[in-house]
Amino acid sequence: MGNFCQKHCACLKPYIPCLFFRREGEQDEKVGQVFPNLAVVRHDFQAGQNDRDNKIKGRPLPPLPEQHLVNICKFVALFDYEARTEEDLSFRAGDKLQVLDASQEGWWYARLLLPTESVYSHHKLQGFVPANYIAADQSIEAEPWYFGPLKRADAERQLSYPGNGAGAFLIRESESLKGEYSLSVFDGVSVKHYRIRKQDERGFFLTIRKTFQTLHEFVDYYSKNSDGLCMVLGKPCIKVQIPSTFDLSYKTVDQWEIDRKSLKLVKKLGSGQFGEVWEGLWNNTTPVAIKTLKPGSMNSKDFLREAQIMKNLRHPKLIQLYAVCSLEDPIYIITELMRYGSLLEYLQKDAGSKIFLQHQVDMAAQVASGMAYLESQNYIHRDLAARNVLVGEHNVYKVADFGLARVFKVENENIYEVRNETKLPVKWTAPEAIRYNKFSIKSDVWSFGILLFEIITYGEVPYAGKCFYLKNDALRMTHKKS
Ligand code: AMP
Repeated sequence: MGNFCQKHCACLKPYIPCLFFRREGEQDEKVGQVFPNLAVVRHDFQAGQNDRDNKIKGRPLPPLPEQHLVNICKFVALFDYEARTEEDLSFRAGDKLQVLDASQEGWWYARLLLPTESVYSHHKLQGFVPANYIAADQSIEAEPWYFGPLKRADAERQLSYPGNGAGAFLIRESESLKGEYSLSVFDGVSVKHYRIRKQDERGFFLTIRKTFQTLHEFVDYYSKNSDGLCMVLGKPCIKVQIPSTFDLSYKTVDQWEIDRKSLKLVKKLGSGQFGEVWEGLWNNTTPVAIKTLKPGSMNSKDFLREAQIMKNLRHPKLIQLYAVCSLEDPIYIITELMRYGSLLEYLQKDAGSKIFLQHQVDMAAQVASGMAYLESQNYIHRDLAARNVLVGEHNVYKVADFGLARVFKVENENIYEVRNETKLPVKWTAPEAIRYNKFSIKSDVWSFGILLFEIITYGEVPYAGKCFYLKNDALRMTHKKS
């Protein structure tokens, strides 16, 4: 979808710049060439740094620390984590850890390094930790002001959260120039962005007059002098968005068929085409969403295919599948829980009282980012609509329900054909998909257009009062009889 929009939807550029960033430079106020920040990483880490940077660029979720760092340094916790199983380790942001075993992707075995007088000293000190919650000590990733590959629009949203005062700032990887950095500063009213330039002989700088060997020195200096910035740097932007773990626990990485007795159904959240959705608790510790499948309402193989697709897709703007209970009816699918439910209901409830244009553009941009990832993975959603986007805390929107993505790839063509007759959400579906069952990234872009309509109208039904039907192989529209 990113590629498609770049080629064919140039009019979206002012509204969803993240889809266009590869084509032109970022609109930062100071533009210049910069290089990866080696200065703040210890020398013994530098050998693998380039490889590491390249790998990280392709990763949608917060990068995992590299395993080669395990033997040579301590780690620091970036977020709080509450143990979910007896084998897990709880920790607080800022705690120091030693990683003892990093052989399993996503979950590492670690020891807490606490001062002897610590209040936690009687607590469990060893266990599994989610690897994307920790970073190598003294690396740039461990800094509270470093936000990694954050998009410009996300930086603006995070800096605008209540709790960030004037001067709140963050440093992120530049969107347009890979391996380079940008500084984003909240001045109390709006967010300003600056390109941090880097030259081998000069180091880091905004202006050639004042250069720094490390980003630490850079931050230190601009925390005392505005010197051309909109204001002196204050506190680092608060990190309110805790990343999802990839799995429920280290045990469910490969074994994601779980015992249904480990789940408690707490509250019914809604009903869908295939069953009900419940808020639940896994292992008495971890809030999850549980989708139940009506017995006999759908082929369980189709359902499991949906689950398999979701499990392999990992992106901050896609709902993460954690596990399934598929051995008996009703089948359960366990995903991350999104506090505010579907975007459609969220928009309809608000109806313009608190949500305004900037917010709506941000919703569209977040969905576009999730859909661009789906395109990059050669997946077609086929049912993109506001009802299938979920709303989380801190204005996070994620694409859900790949239930109709049961498709086959036609050799050498980016077009997929449906296998069986399926009931289509006609008003969201592209004409060629309705008439010829041809689904492609282009038909997803069509649905994205209808989703934009839903967002901007606070959840109105598209083509209100009209209904569609096929006659003589042609798609026709008529007024609904009242
Ligand atoms: P669905 O069956 O996917 O159409 O879901 C029915 C309703 O359940 C939606 O409209 C949402 O309000 C709610 N829901 C579905 N999935 C989740 C989730 N992961 N977190 C919170 N609410 C959800």
